[in-house]
Amino acid sequence: SIVVTGATGKLGRHVVEQLLEKVPAEQVTAVVRSAEKAADLAARGVRVAVADYNVPESLDGVFAAGDKVLLISGNEFDKGRVRQHEAVIDAAKAAGVALLAYTSAPGTLTAALADDHRGTEEVLLGSGVPYTLLRNGWYHENYTENLAPVLEHRAVVAAAGEGRVSSASRADYAAAAVAVLTGEGHENTTYELGGDEAWSFAEYAAELSRQTGEEISYRPVTAEALTGILTGAGLPEPLAGILAGVDASIEKGELVVGSGDLSRLTGRPTTPLAEAVAAALKG
Ligand code: NDP
Repeated sequence: SIVVTGATGKLGRHVVEQLLEKVPAEQVTAVVRSAEKAADLAARGVRVAVADYNVPESLDGVFAAGDKVLLISGNEFDKGRVRQHEAVIDAAKAAGVALLAYTSAPGTLTAALADDHRGTEEVLLGSGVPYTLLRNGWYHENYTENLAPVLEHRAVVAAAGEGRVSSASRADYAAAAVAVLTGEGHENTTYELGGDEAWSFAEYAAELSRQTGEEISYRPVTAEALTGILTGAGLPEPLAGILAGVDASIEKGELVVGSGDLSRLTGRPTTPLAEAVAAALKG
């Protein structure tokens, strides 16, 4: 069957939804931490397996020989994600899965945030399990889901200078994952995934201005200033530092993805940022 971990997360929900358009529900397994959160999926006939990346034994029996697995990277930055992902890879290997696709980060990204992804890639390649690296670029939603302070202060604040980002919607990255899970010939392949059009923060502010009728401008700040703003807004210091590090990478061009892999895999252009902005403003 096709097995999706992190199935009750935001990306995972898109993946399962799109899979159900292509294959019968009984061929899909959702690996989740909370059966309750996945009750709607079970009701639709999806097999639900409860497991936690932190508890290797919980992964016993989740995978079967010949399965195609999507390992969606976790979000517990302080719990050793490489070890967590390794537990999934070990269980998948022991079961003899046919493919394990992993949601990684762009190969160009040197920010600290990418360390867990590079570490997981190393474990996966060393495991001998047939793999696909889905090196996902940034989500539009990283920005469009956080519009409240932007609209309030009429300012897009970032420490990214004139840097550009090839973002795409979660639904686009999910479609790429579904193409790999339901298609053939993706073994031992790395895809660099990103939106067709890279944008700058000044352009993002201009798009927000156009759609809201307000004057919203880009306010570039230093990494130190951004860290201060984020901690002031209640983010823990380490996370604020990680996010400021991402902006520094953006300034260096590390989140521009020019491969065209995403639209090629999905067979359609990626969602324009303007569309994600419109959806977010509509609420
Ligand atoms: P979410 O935070 O919505 O989803 C994370 C998923 O991981 C959830 O389903 C969560 O389970 C699951 N998870 C976390 N820890 C564990 C664990 N210990 N055991 C089992 N499952 C676990 O993120 P998204 O869906 O938006 O993104 C998916 C991943 O992509 C993120 O986790 C992160 O690694 C990465 N990411 C990428 C970004 C990008 O721009 N490319 C931006 C942000 C994150 P549960 O549903 O139970 O909470």
